[in-house]
Amino acid sequence: MNVTQIDHIGIAVKDLQAAVKWYEETLGLKAGGTEEVSEQKVTVAFLPCGEGELELLESTAPDGPIARFIEKNGEGIQHIALRVESIDATLAELKEKGVRLIDQTPRYGAGGARIAFVHPKETKGVLLELCERT
Ligand code: ZN
Repeated sequence: MNVTQIDHIGIAVKDLQAAVKWYEETLGLKAGGTEEVSEQKVTVAFLPCGEGELELLESTAPDGPIARFIEKNGEGIQHIALRVESIDATLAELKEKGVRLIDQTPRYGAGGARIAFVHPKETKGVLLELCERT
């Protein structure tokens, strides 16, 4: 397993446009456009910030994971993503260690990344995304 860096921090927001505007105007970050990821029922914007990025996520459906998160917790940090060299090797190793995974196989992530989530019960309460960038 080779975790190389914190890839991004995912922040659930109610209004993506307003959130992007705030981060750009107040903190001087620059969003690299938005993308809808229909599989996860979200529209996302990535704002590069040094080596990592902030990922702002707005739900596109009332039953989507981000909508449910906001309903339960309000807006805020929803997940932390670690970049790994090989998501296939990482998932295989975690399975071998008996780690509870949300995704058994990688799925599509924004920007063409291959991602998989580890269950928060394993990570002391943090929804952890593993992210391989090509
Ligand atoms: Zn993410």
